[in-house]
Amino acid sequence: VELTDLVREHVREIPDFPAPGVLFRDITPLLADGPAFGALVRGLADKYRGHVDAVAGLESRGFILAAPLALELGVGMITVRKAGRLPGPVVGVDYALEYGTARMELRPDTVTEGQRVLIIDDVLATGGTGAAAVQLVERSGGEVVALAMLLELAALSGRTKLDGHRVDSVLIY
Ligand code: IMP
Repeated sequence: VELTDLVREHVREIPDFPAPGVLFRDITPLLADGPAFGALVRGLADKYRGHVDAVAGLESRGFILAAPLALELGVGMITVRKAGRLPGPVVGVDYALEYGTARMELRPDTVTEGQRVLIIDDVLATGGTGAAAVQLVERSGGEVVALAMLLELAALSGRTKLDGHRVDSVLIY
């Protein structure tokens, strides 16, 4: 099965979550289906095998994808976390949300100089989270190979915030 079909068939759309007017894309049916989850992780691993030295997962759903992918690739996993979750020393990046701001943090000592890092998350929306992760990895000495996203909401133009970086989305809406 193509990865695109796999994701399309297992993602659920939930209207008005977490707020009225928002159509939430939910990957939990994909995670709950053992063969589908396994095929997704192996399919992603085949794309990046030999090209990455670490997988960086973005809290929270990116962690679920990054850990099995890192294991499948035989590399380590880096956790990019929401503010205040990691014990220091950390580097942090603040970025704008639709309403207010958010901050992501990373322990730079979990990245080695010149390490080829794949960033992964479930959904690319406005691109703010992905752009913050890119900055954190680069400030820590890593080299971002690509951002892997299960879903990309093209209408929100997240890609434009990731200028110059490769974005691999399994399914683009
Ligand atoms: P961005 O910073 O606007 O690109 O938003 C990306 C972050 O919000 C990611 O960490 C996603 O997990 C989350 N996100 C945004 N929209 C959705 C959605 O429809 N479903 C699941 N997560 C979403």
